[in-house]
Amino acid sequence: MKHKPPSERDSKTCPVCGRPFLWRKKWEKVWPEVVYCSDRCRNARRTRSEAEENLKTN
Ligand SMILES: [Zn+2]
Repeated sequence: MKHKPPSERDSKTCPVCGRPFLWRKKWEKVWPEVVYCSDRCRNARRTRSEAEENLKTN
């Protein structure tokens, strides 16, 4: 019995933590706009850019 593998449309890779995440019911209306796996990663991206700028300064 084969299961249909998730299509690209149904899964994305979070650019912050690098992990794939699957479509969720709560995202059904905004899925095309979803980039991060969670609010935590969404916020982490900002923090990370600030940290990178600090590294340049140092
Ligand atoms: Zn993530």
